Amino acid sequence: MIITLTGTPGTGKTSVSEKLAEKGFEVIHLTEYLEENDIGEDIKGEREVRVNQMVEELETEEFKEDTVIEGHLAHHFSADICVVLRCQPDKLEKRLSKRNYTDRKVEENIESEKIDIVLSEAVQKQETVIEIDTTDKTVGETVEELIEKVEKGEEDYGNVDWTEFL
Ligand code: ADP
Ligand code: MN
Repeated sequence: MIITLTGTPGTGKTSVSEKLAEKGFEVIHLTEYLEENDIGEDIKGEREVRVNQMVEELETEEFKEDTVIEGHLAHHFSADICVVLRCQPDKLEKRLSKRNYTDRKVEENIESEKIDIVLSEAVQKQETVIEIDTTDKTVGETVEELIEKVEKGEEDYGNVDWTEFL
């Protein structure tokens, strides 16, 4: 089973994937993967890549059983299941303000989370999308929910609604 793990920056992809690695999943961090394979280019310390190029590269890979591909663009690649992490905007702001992001970048990410950008892209492109709200959970609880829902294998999204924050 190949799982993509996506979401707005700060929703918890990397933290969740590290716990999944402890549980035996093979984890591919897309930023590292792109750097190691020299795909795209570094612009102001961030990896910039054309989505199509990234997807084409991933399509040439032979992934091991139970691989998790994590990154905020991961949902563009078609895997067996696409998991989208969500976080309530005020809480996401708290998480992102701890990073050395500009105010503009924090704001852009919060706006994107509010209007479900990643989820809607995922739903447009992928067959089986599972959405998980991380807001009042620990990383461990998020991982448990992810494993449970992935084992079920059913589409599961639409319960998150941040319109009151618009
Ligand atoms: P991303 O890779 O999506 O940008 P990170 O994992 O780097 O996100 O950062 C998410 C931050 O939010 C971490 O500091 C993590 O500990 C925290 N966090 C709090 N609750 C959760 C949760 N339920 N799931 C994932 N991360 C959480
Ligand atoms: Mn990350």
